Amino acid sequence: MHRGLLIVISGPSGVGKGTVIEKFIHDPDLNLTYSVSMTTRPRRPGEVDGVNYYFVSREEFLRARDNGELLESAEFVNNFYGTPLKKVEELRNAGKNVLLEIEVQGCQQVVQKCPDALTIFIVPPSMQELEKRIRGRATEPEEIVQQRLEKARREMAMTNQYKYVVCNDKPDLAADIIRVIIRDHMQENSTPAE
Ligand code: 5GP
Repeated sequence: MHRGLLIVISGPSGVGKGTVIEKFIHDPDLNLTYSVSMTTRPRRPGEVDGVNYYFVSREEFLRARDNGELLESAEFVNNFYGTPLKKVEELRNAGKNVLLEIEVQGCQQVVQKCPDALTIFIVPPSMQELEKRIRGRATEPEEIVQQRLEKARREMAMTNQYKYVVCNDKPDLAADIIRVIIRDHMQENSTPAE
């Protein structure tokens, strides 16, 4: 059995990563599974512990990180986020393609450890549209919105670190493009090396 692919999807907050991912993650041909991250961020309305994130205290997070239990981790707008390593390894060894939805610093760490990771960055059609989407969420105070926008501007300058950049103007189209990219890499992954 082939070891599953490691797929990283990044993009500024508010770009609609979740919406796009939801459109292809259950496609049986892609054999995908979503890696649930650990975070110290407070839960948003509708989020479920163990489904959207594992919501943990700062102490729990730092303990896991210092024990080497995370594949990567980053601080983002005053909260920690990280990918549990053991689960990713188990799933890939079982032949599953594992999808990480993480920010840029985390992606850099992943690429250092797994240079063959398939990395995809989702961009908004414009920065004005991104601001509109972030404000549309309206669950956070202005100060946090500003921090997210500043972080978005910095992240948008780092898209050259990714193998693919996909624009989310129409989520259905963005999802179709990502499907094609993943299928192509699955074929490569299943072709025996010469
Ligand atoms: P949010 O608070 O909006 O759910 O996520 C904020 C940012 O953290 C997003 O860009 C998201 O992709 C990123 N993120 C979520 N989980 C992880 C993780 O495990 N590691 C890293 N490095 N970033 C993450």
